[in-house]
Amino acid sequence: SEEKSLNFIEQIIEEDLKDGLSNDKLRFRFPPEPNGYLHIGHASSIALNFGLGIDYNAPVNLRFDDTNPAKEEQEYVDAIKRDVQWLGYQWDKELYASDYFQQLYDWAVEFIKKGKAYVDSQTSEEMAAQKGTPTTEGVDSPYRNRSVEENLDLFERMKNGEFEEGTHILRAKIDMKSTNMLMRDPIMYRILHKHHHRTGDDWCIYPMYDWAHGESDYLEQVSHSFCTLEFLPHRELYDWFLDQIYDDKKVRPKQREFARRNLSHTVVSKRKLLKLVQDKYVNGWDDPRMSTVSGLRRRGYTPTSIRNFANMIGIAKRDNLIDVSVLEFCIREDLNKTASRVMAVLDPVKLVITNYPEGKEEWLEAENNQEDENAGFRKVPFSREVYIEREDFLEDAPAKFFRLSIGKEVRLKNAYIIKGESVVKDAEGNIAEIHATYDVDSLSGSGTEASLRKVSGTLHWVSIAHALPAEVRLYDRLFTDEAPDTHKEKDFLEFVNPDSLKTVTGYVEPSLQSAQNEDKFQFQRLGYFTVDKDSTASKLVFNKTVGLKDAWEE
Ligand code: ATP
Ligand code: MG
Ligand code: MG
Repeated sequence: SEEKSLNFIEQIIEEDLKDGLSNDKLRFRFPPEPNGYLHIGHASSIALNFGLGIDYNAPVNLRFDDTNPAKEEQEYVDAIKRDVQWLGYQWDKELYASDYFQQLYDWAVEFIKKGKAYVDSQTSEEMAAQKGTPTTEGVDSPYRNRSVEENLDLFERMKNGEFEEGTHILRAKIDMKSTNMLMRDPIMYRILHKHHHRTGDDWCIYPMYDWAHGESDYLEQVSHSFCTLEFLPHRELYDWFLDQIYDDKKVRPKQREFARRNLSHTVVSKRKLLKLVQDKYVNGWDDPRMSTVSGLRRRGYTPTSIRNFANMIGIAKRDNLIDVSVLEFCIREDLNKTASRVMAVLDPVKLVITNYPEGKEEWLEAENNQEDENAGFRKVPFSREVYIEREDFLEDAPAKFFRLSIGKEVRLKNAYIIKGESVVKDAEGNIAEIHATYDVDSLSGSGTEASLRKVSGTLHWVSIAHALPAEVRLYDRLFTDEAPDTHKEKDFLEFVNPDSLKTVTGYVEPSLQSAQNEDKFQFQRLGYFTVDKDSTASKLVFNKTVGLKDAWEE
């Protein structure tokens, strides 16, 4: 039997279990700030935390880190919940850091009473100047030794809204000489006269992330608080804050770090994604070109493909760039198993089968998915005039051209073998029609000798009389650069690909008339496509999810 090797996060948990933490004390959380939509990087963190919950049969909380009212909105809360559920995970409790504002305030008052916090009334410039550098010691604030009474009075008045933003802050009294800059009397509270999406105007002081996060973990009795590597230097502060309030009968949360996941040819940062939305480089957070979960969903990605992607790349200790082709591999692999095959022509040229009776139509049997024996069959209409792809015909074809040309035979998928006879050109010399003849005995699956004949290729097609026009949106990478936000001299927006969206009118077989939003298909020989939310019964709209093969593989 195969032993699954443990990753370093699982090893940390195993060690803790060995050291006496009981399995029923395990609890994890996914802690998004509701200041934007989730992206593919978050999906990694979601898969990690909820995956641990499944593996250890432990609860996982969805905790909104909503401590900064300037950027947070209910719309984002709703989108995050929708995306986590869509990915297939179920949280134990839905929680909000803002629910702890009173408790955090009460603790801060305790800190003041114990001489562990003080109100600083300098300008931010003055404080920055005293902070020092990693190689020089910081200087104590002149307010560092304010009396407890004065601190309590000022802090209460900060809370009551008596002061302007930026006039006072509450700082933890730790060590201005620490080699860890974050320990040099970090800010716990700042004044913000802002409306909060949940607490309204109840508060005009708001806790800093570092102050709120660990204490939230503690209040929720989270055993392991996994975050990305940039928080490594914050761990000392996380622990210091916990030291002040920790009761040893309770679980003490442990912060551990893993590497942020970056995907090539895109950005994974809510701030930058917001910029793309606000400046209209894309049409909203769920634009199919976005790295957001909702964008990937609209593009045609499945929850399975995203979970598989996250598990395939696993977790790492160092930041790295994952090529987007890995993600594309995952969706291709999933859709290959599940998507119905249909025929669609995106760059049509008319083909007339001159010996096929005018006015006749046949409904031919077509297999829905050869990868899925339960997928069954459907009927596709055939008639004298069909569309094929313009690139599937060449008048003077080289020997290695395995498609249609004059005097050569190909099969029309699910239908007959045809032979190219002649072309009709328009005034500019472009091919307006291809004329061909068909072999009446060559119907696919008929078992006749003629039907078994070897031909140079098989083409997809649609019957012109029956085909439905469809708007088809073809996407390219949103950025021309592999890592657009890593350039010192250039802003990431300079690398936006101006040709990332191309819209064409194609023709699809009539079985797609009833296709619903998010239904997924393989357009045979073209790639995987999904019905867009803009699609209506009178105007079908499809998004190209991914091609059949990795175009960048060569
Ligand atoms: P962003 O810069 O996009 O806002 P963030 O880390 O500030 O990212 P949060 O809402 O705080 O966003 O993230 C919630 C959780 O997801 C955190 O634990 C965070 O570490 C994790 N996370 C965010 N981005 C990534 C990423 N690219 N790869 C892995 N985990 C991530
Ligand atoms: Mg964050
Ligand atoms: Mg952020």
